[in-house]
Amino acid sequence: MHAQSSELFSLQGRTALVTGANTGLGQAIAVALAQAGADIIAAGRTEPVETAAQVAAAGRTLHFVRADFAAGGAARATADVAAAAAALAPHGRIDILVNNAGTIRRADSLDVTEEDWDAVVNTNLKSLFFLSQAVARGMAERGAGKIINVASLLSFQGGIRVPAYTASKSAVAGLTRALANEWAQQGINVNALAPGYFETNNTAPLRDDPVRAPAILARIPAGRWGTPADLAGAAVFLASRASDYVHGIVLPVDGGWLAR
Ligand code: NAP
Repeated sequence: MHAQSSELFSLQGRTALVTGANTGLGQAIAVALAQAGADIIAAGRTEPVETAAQVAAAGRTLHFVRADFAAGGAARATADVAAAAAALAPHGRIDILVNNAGTIRRADSLDVTEEDWDAVVNTNLKSLFFLSQAVARGMAERGAGKIINVASLLSFQGGIRVPAYTASKSAVAGLTRALANEWAQQGINVNALAPGYFETNNTAPLRDDPVRAPAILARIPAGRWGTPADLAGAAVFLASRASDYVHGIVLPVDGGWLAR
């Protein structure tokens, strides 16, 4: 039987593990999922105090698991995060994984160091893969789960002075499709969000740049930068029953940037 459309987007009784939920897009996603009914496990290196208050205001719980996704040993570290998250989850299981934590290092390609490269690729790609693997094991056993990766416009475009970021986010788009192909049959939806230019810490240097800031704004058909809450609807969609037959997409939420 088909659910009523009002129930399609409900996350009542679900638990979502959201990485990097202390600020920016991860915070907005965690709060949106909580407002739709999900309890939240936040994983990251900074305690999500403000997010916890907003999740509590929505009547849901938030637990925190400390994790540094740039560090080496990603397979072991992310398996520990997945186990700790499941142990804290109200029903002992993670229903939704949002791989949001990410970092960016800006430099001319001639000057990028190995340290920059590893920090970006470990955080944005390697930890994302191994955390997905660890969480998907339980999802596959239960035959249900939602994995949402946070990609980027630089999953489609080259970007300027951020080669490791572009490489990692382009790989996230490919990995989203690869994992969807494998895991769709196990009842797991793997999809990605591709945010356009949003007002967060990540883009503060761009918004402060007197040349780049107006050039970016002029190219956005919607005529404004995104605010984190602009991602809420798409995140709830990909986390909910409403997207049960949606697999392997990279959904732009970009004010029309890619249409231009
Ligand atoms: P942000 O405000 O800088 O948030 C990044 C989040 O990732 C923070 O919670 C940060 O924790 C966490 N993080 C970074 N490195 C980490 C590490 N080594 N271990 C654990 N957590 C780590 O930027 P944002 O814009 O919200 O970014 C969220 C995601 O959206 C990222 O994947 C980013 O690439 C992507 N994105 C952003 C935009 C945009 O316009 N803002 C556009 C496209 C894609 P700390 O606070 O402790 O650093």
